[in-house]
Amino acid sequence: MSIAYAPDNIFAKILRGELPCHKIYEDDTALAFLDIMPRADGHTLVISKAPARNLLDIAPADLSAMMPAVQKVARAVKEGMQAEGLLVDQFNESVSGQTIFHLHFHILPRWSGVELRPHAGIMAKPEILAAHAEKIKAALAQS
Ligand code: AMP
Repeated sequence: MSIAYAPDNIFAKILRGELPCHKIYEDDTALAFLDIMPRADGHTLVISKAPARNLLDIAPADLSAMMPAVQKVARAVKEGMQAEGLLVDQFNESVSGQTIFHLHFHILPRWSGVELRPHAGIMAKPEILAAHAEKIKAALAQS
């Protein structure tokens, strides 16, 4: 049996505008913003607008509705950060590494020879995040 969605999680607060974020993109289905503890420069999160805990409980229609946003943001992250490729990560429950229980996809730019930093490790400086957000938003505006 799945665990109920809890609306007091950090991402729900960001969606409601109760907490700030370095926003990249928003539509009716999803919101994208930078991870504050990036594992790579430009590490972006795409979260569902539907109140789902993770991949296991989201309604199929809500999941499929948000995937074009995941793809759109992924393309802009690759372009804006001049990445060679991307890793898309998505965790389900604590045992897998999930720490925030609102469905999200991690988009991680990859460059050869550049290792990923630890998951939820070091907080990035706001000015660095702002600069990366601008690069990705510029790529999004060109798409
Ligand atoms: P997960 O372990 O998949 O649940 O990932 C949660 C992610 O959220 C981690 O990569 C954290 O670094 C990130 N994170 C935590 N708090 C915030 C926040 N306020 N804004 C943006 N990202 C956050």
